[in-house]
Amino acid sequence: MSVLVFVESDNGSIKSSSHEAVVYAKELGAGEVTAVAVGSISADELADLGKYGAAKVLHAADEKLNDNVIMATATIIAAAASQTDASIVVMARSSLVDAVAARVAIKTGASVATNVVALPDTSAGFVVKRGVYTGKAFANVSLPGAKKVITIAKNTVAAEPGEGTASVEVFSADFGEKDFATARKDVKKAEGDILLPEADRVVSAGRGLKGPENWGMIEDLAKTLGAATACSKPVSDMEWRPHHEHVGQTGIKISPTLYIAVGISGAIQHLAGVNSSKVIVVVNKDPEAPFFKAADYGVVGDAFDVIPRLNEALKKVL
Ligand SMILES: Cc1cc2nc3c(=O)[nH]c(=O)nc-3n(C[C@H](O)[C@H](O)[C@H](O)COP(=O)(O)OP(=O)(O)OC[C@H]3O[C@@H](n4cnc5c(N)ncnc54)[C@H](O)[C@@H]3O)c2cc1C
Repeated sequence: MSVLVFVESDNGSIKSSSHEAVVYAKELGAGEVTAVAVGSISADELADLGKYGAAKVLHAADEKLNDNVIMATATIIAAAASQTDASIVVMARSSLVDAVAARVAIKTGASVATNVVALPDTSAGFVVKRGVYTGKAFANVSLPGAKKVITIAKNTVAAEPGEGTASVEVFSADFGEKDFATARKDVKKAEGDILLPEADRVVSAGRGLKGPENWGMIEDLAKTLGAATACSKPVSDMEWRPHHEHVGQTGIKISPTLYIAVGISGAIQHLAGVNSSKVIVVVNKDPEAPFFKAADYGVVGDAFDVIPRLNEALKKVL
């Protein structure tokens, strides 16, 4: 038995969510972990996957694979699953993986579960817990059959590097014309040092901030915490903040370790994108704001008073 894990990169750097996928694959305890990576990634980065639990990396370095080509990526992963006789294929959720997972399952004859949030329960079969209804509920799903494909949500496991070096092998698959029928032509990247979907800590603000000129204190707090910034939908609709910061049902769905919501009421559509955060802190001047029901910690107070003081206090300890 062995486990295959698909490793994704961004600008040649392996994504932290893929490190989590390797740790998850190792923690399955279902045999040796092999990673499969596509596109331009340095041999050193690939060998470092050993620090997260991979014994071996199959590297399909074809430059055409840098362009998030869905069909070709699915073909490579399926070929790697076949070569390693993998019983489980693990991938970290992303826009690419959301499109690739079911295709890999069809190509390999596997059952598939997406948005998995915990290690499986193998006491009676193979049961995984998935986030459903945009994070408002969980479903326990049984995956029958000998082969399974799992995509995991961010922060399902912690990815601390340990010791180890993975061996790296060149890998290729037989591509057909259809594999490159669609390819990404250009990318409009979100700006900022820390990208929201990958962020471990997020400071988010809503209409309670009154206007775009007041975001300085949110950015300062985010900088102190090493966090990304986010916002509610009306804030991006009014163009107070860029659209790529909008979180919620119609925006990005995130699950950071820490989510600080400032001047956001906590409408169900907002919660749908953030309620799988590990710790939620809410700052709102209205004690009846619905967000407090979903909060681990709440501060009833004026953001313009609370946030600068919180930032100063954190600077002393961080
Ligand atoms: C189909 C659909 C999809 C949607 N998708 C999304 C989505 O993806 N994401 C999303 O965010 N919304 C979404 N919405 C909108 C959502 O319903 C809410 O309207 C929105 O989240 C409210 O944004 P807000 O909390 O910033 O503003 P408000 O609801 O106006 O809340 C502002 C909050 O700030 C507090 N406040 C005011 N002044 C201060 C102060 N000085 N200090 C502290 N607190 C203060 C107020 O007490 C209030 O709770 C969607 C709606 C629909 C119908």
